[in-house]
Amino acid sequence: MTAPLRLRLDSAALVSNWRHLAKLSGNAACGAAIKANGYGLGSRGVAQRLAGAGCRDFFVATWAEAEALADLGLTVSVLHGLRADDPLDATCARPVLSTAEQVMRWKPTGRPCDVMVDTGMNRLGVSAEEIGAGLLDGLAIETLLSHLVSADEDVPLNARQLAAFGALKGKTQAKRMSLANSAGIALGADYAFDLTRPGIALYGGWQRPGHDAIRQVATPEAQILQRRTVRAGESVGYNATWTAPADTEVAILNLGYADGYLRCFSGKGLARAEGVTLPLIGRVSMDLTAIDVTALPGLREGDWVAMSYALPETAALSGLSQYELLTGLGPRYDRIWR
Ligand SMILES: *Cc1c(COP(=O)(O)O)cnc(C)c1O
Repeated sequence: MTAPLRLRLDSAALVSNWRHLAKLSGNAACGAAIKANGYGLGSRGVAQRLAGAGCRDFFVATWAEAEALADLGLTVSVLHGLRADDPLDATCARPVLSTAEQVMRWKPTGRPCDVMVDTGMNRLGVSAEEIGAGLLDGLAIETLLSHLVSADEDVPLNARQLAAFGALKGKTQAKRMSLANSAGIALGADYAFDLTRPGIALYGGWQRPGHDAIRQVATPEAQILQRRTVRAGESVGYNATWTAPADTEVAILNLGYADGYLRCFSGKGLARAEGVTLPLIGRVSMDLTAIDVTALPGLREGDWVAMSYALPETAALSGLSQYELLTGLGPRYDRIWR
């Protein structure tokens, strides 16, 4: 059974984005953040394609996310570490330990792990002082990580974090060090260390000037459930926020805020069909959205339209972040890779 809503996913664009980020990472390996179901695109589909292209390091947030990839035989790290409730003997991934308690819990296993050190985010991570006091001694650390606060901005904090992280070189038994997310890769070769961890840029997001090389990967497409003529003076949708200035041809799409197409698109969002741009009218509702199709007399019930969803532009239009635009996409889409 096919859904009346699909996410068209471009394999070539995903792989091309990863290759571009790998090139920008220089001698460092380039991994992939695939948490939150691959930023909404489907973590399995993303992971399989990137692994095929040569990506060897994958990052998820939770053990459940790692479990969903267990049969793929990938190297997966769990960014949220190891809670008391998490399995000590899981083989599907290794934890990114981020507190002294987690380190104590893991040490007796003798198994490999990653460690997050805090260099200014003040969210997750052990401190440089704890490391200096020997907290990590005896741990089999694959990768020492830290995370940038404002890599998408040119602020002094970037260099401060770089220096704080760089100062830990040789201070732990970690085989590799990793600092940069997508925007961190753009900060320059110094930030790459041994491994980069892009997420959003793999999926078409970019927050710095000059993003020509990063290609759009995900496009929501919705089916037309009904086409109608709305007479001048009649309104469309909840609270009658749009009134037809003249007789208008309207298509009702199977797409709404429950699909992550939020109400901030009301009166602003755009769809495309046959190369023609079609403006959204009225309010986005939970499961339905209306567009003006006067320009396309041939468009009918059952036809598909694509929503405009280039991430930098759509974020500017909607006020949502590029991350929210993807992670909100929800379970009702058929995710179709081409
Ligand atoms: C999400 C995440 C990334 C990827 O960040 P992007 O900004 O999407 O590139 C990298 N590292 C950590 C620790 C993360 O949580």
